[in-house]
Amino acid sequence: MDTTIDQISRIEQLNCSKCGKAHSAFEPQTLSACCSLPLAAEYDLKRSFKKEDILHREATMWRYRELLPVLHEENIVSLGEGFTPILHLNNLSAKYKLHQLLLKDEGQNPTGSFKARGLSMAISKAKEFGVEGCIVPTAGNAGVAMAAYCAKAGMRAVVVMPRHTPDSFKEECYWYGAEVVLVDGLINDCAAKAKELNTDGRLLDVSTLKEPYRLEGKKTMGYEIAEQLQWSLPDVILYPAGGGTGLIGIWKAFKEMQQLGWLSKEVKLPRMIAVQAANCQPLVETYFQRQANAQQYLGKATIANGLAVPRPIGEQMMLQVLHESKGTAVGITDAEMIQGLQEIGRHEGLFVAPEGAAVWIAAKKLLQKGVLSAADSILLLNTGSGQKYMANVAGQY
Ligand SMILES: *Cc1c(COP(=O)(O)O)cnc(C)c1O
Ligand SMILES: [Zn+2]
Repeated sequence: MDTTIDQISRIEQLNCSKCGKAHSAFEPQTLSACCSLPLAAEYDLKRSFKKEDILHREATMWRYRELLPVLHEENIVSLGEGFTPILHLNNLSAKYKLHQLLLKDEGQNPTGSFKARGLSMAISKAKEFGVEGCIVPTAGNAGVAMAAYCAKAGMRAVVVMPRHTPDSFKEECYWYGAEVVLVDGLINDCAAKAKELNTDGRLLDVSTLKEPYRLEGKKTMGYEIAEQLQWSLPDVILYPAGGGTGLIGIWKAFKEMQQLGWLSKEVKLPRMIAVQAANCQPLVETYFQRQANAQQYLGKATIANGLAVPRPIGEQMMLQVLHESKGTAVGITDAEMIQGLQEIGRHEGLFVAPEGAAVWIAAKKLLQKGVLSAADSILLLNTGSGQKYMANVAGQY
């Protein structure tokens, strides 16, 4: 394959997230061959590339295409994902006397969640590699997004999700023509089932962080936050972390922008706060040293389906982001998420995902504890629309 002619991407290689060993970015990859851990894409960031060059491009995540892994434009499978608005939560910031409270609304993405970013990227790369079908273990939103992008790309889609996931997730997959396999358990049980269903390896497994490019899709949130805030950054970002791909990706974007010279030396990187569901908070437990790691953690289901990830493979990468950024980790109960949904709905006219409600409650708790200050500029990541979760929260307004 001649990878240089018409190549839009500046990708150079993939590096093992633990030992740094280089892997080819020009053939399909999964976990690193050396350590069986996630790979991270590295780009040529030295060649001149001005942020002014992207200002007039389309309002999707593909405006950053030089810094994304798809080599040839014709392989891009897009439904218009990314460049979601950053909203000012004026009513809540007035109520709590906060300097600035922002919310990046990922619920406005295709298929109603930020999973669209990662799956647009993964399915584009699958197309580039000539893959015929994909399979994914999912807590819900990733499966819906994969089904949609596979439909657009003309690929077979097999989605493996917990039986207890609200019907709205399953039915949207069916509308996109996907096969759906239901499993009693959480996403790690779905991962085992997906492996079993794909012993012949005919389908590409696009599990997050096992497939190296969903991370690149999610990192575009970091680029957008900087661009939309005129190349400044908030003091704090609160992110609902399940597998952690977004948390890791946003931080990766900030580092890349520093190398590109897109962020001036005066711009301080935000503190990154990982918010989890109290029912499934492996990262909180490890962060506060109540366990060595999450490899044996037992989680329970939560109304924030996307946070039910008991044994995230990117745990070490997430911990590194929390430590480097001087952030922390917080667990929020399902009952608190309902309160968050009520408050955001009534004051801001937004029906966010329970994951998004959790980050608002976490912000309030950290403000009360003095970990955050009312003078901080605070950005909440709402990762999805509440619409698909209606069955989880019915009547609790
Ligand atoms: C998947 C998901 C999450 C967790 O995302 P990660 O990047 O894997 O941590 C959070 N919120 C929603 C709505 C999700 O679908
Ligand atoms: Zn390694």
